Amino acid sequence: MISILGDIAPPVLSAMDQSDELRGYTALRPEHGQPVNFVAVMTGVKPSMDDWVTRSQLDEYVDMCRNRGLYVTANAQFAGFSGDDSLADVIGKETLTTTRAAAHTVAEDVPNASVHVFVGRDRQAVDRTRWSGWYPLVSGGRASSKPWIDHYWFGEGLGYPSCCTEAFARHNNWSVNNMPYQAWRSTQAPSALCNSTPRFTGLTWTAHLPCRYDCAASITLARETRAAVRRHSVELADYVDNLTARPCLVLNEWETFSFDGTCRPSSIQYEAVALMPSNKPNRRLFEALQAGSRVEIRDDLVVIFNSDDVVWIEQCRVDGFAPRVPFFLDFSAGAR
Ligand SMILES: [Zn+2]
Repeated sequence: MISILGDIAPPVLSAMDQSDELRGYTALRPEHGQPVNFVAVMTGVKPSMDDWVTRSQLDEYVDMCRNRGLYVTANAQFAGFSGDDSLADVIGKETLTTTRAAAHTVAEDVPNASVHVFVGRDRQAVDRTRWSGWYPLVSGGRASSKPWIDHYWFGEGLGYPSCCTEAFARHNNWSVNNMPYQAWRSTQAPSALCNSTPRFTGLTWTAHLPCRYDCAASITLARETRAAVRRHSVELADYVDNLTARPCLVLNEWETFSFDGTCRPSSIQYEAVALMPSNKPNRRLFEALQAGSRVEIRDDLVVIFNSDDVVWIEQCRVDGFAPRVPFFLDFSAGAR
């Protein structure tokens, strides 16, 4: 997943200089882990986190957490699912999201499955997060939707500020809205501390979708997280600072690009571009950006230039699922 960062060298977390407490985690989750969240939970900055671990590593993961005063609970394990057609007769299938997996109990021996675990210092808080952190499921040919309040409690359990969970509830309808665009509209001065665009890498100071990219509550939380990470690994903190303090082109949650370059109100002049990982990254647009050196936004068009030559024009439509609204977010002022 991290490899599509493009020009930004993907870090090998276990090879970074770090404390023994953090090393226990990165040894088990060397590439796709959440080292920033883990430090935030271990140091009490955040109440709990959810994570994924293979069943064969589960016992080792639980021991590692216990040795750090953390409680762990698991709710299910998930394996790949390749049977969209088998949902054809399911009542309520239109309420399901596009990401699907087959669920099994933790006791079952399932190849290539990942166990969904919840971690934190306080057992009661972790259990509360676990009970609200379930996924909508199909059972007996019927889809069961998750009550809205569980989304709210889950966000609360993970330590998300209430202004952000409320904005998420209001704007995160992918059929008609675009949460990053709404957050951008409310933003006055973007802070790299609120740059959630690399959140699929686990390498960001704000792991949730903020209500705005200068949300005061998110900045406070991110600042505490950053200070805690810096105590455990200067190298990791420097990496996240570098990754988050860049100008970005955002179309929606799936399509975000970050640049090594200079952002002006309607253009970015760049030397290098990276594709932020997501569930559906736009590789074609990424290739076009790699062939250019300047990108402009003209109404609903993203226009890519190499010197003065146009090399690509991307039209962004809003009349469909995951509406695409192009905008620039300049985080290059850093962690302010
Ligand atoms: Zn907020």
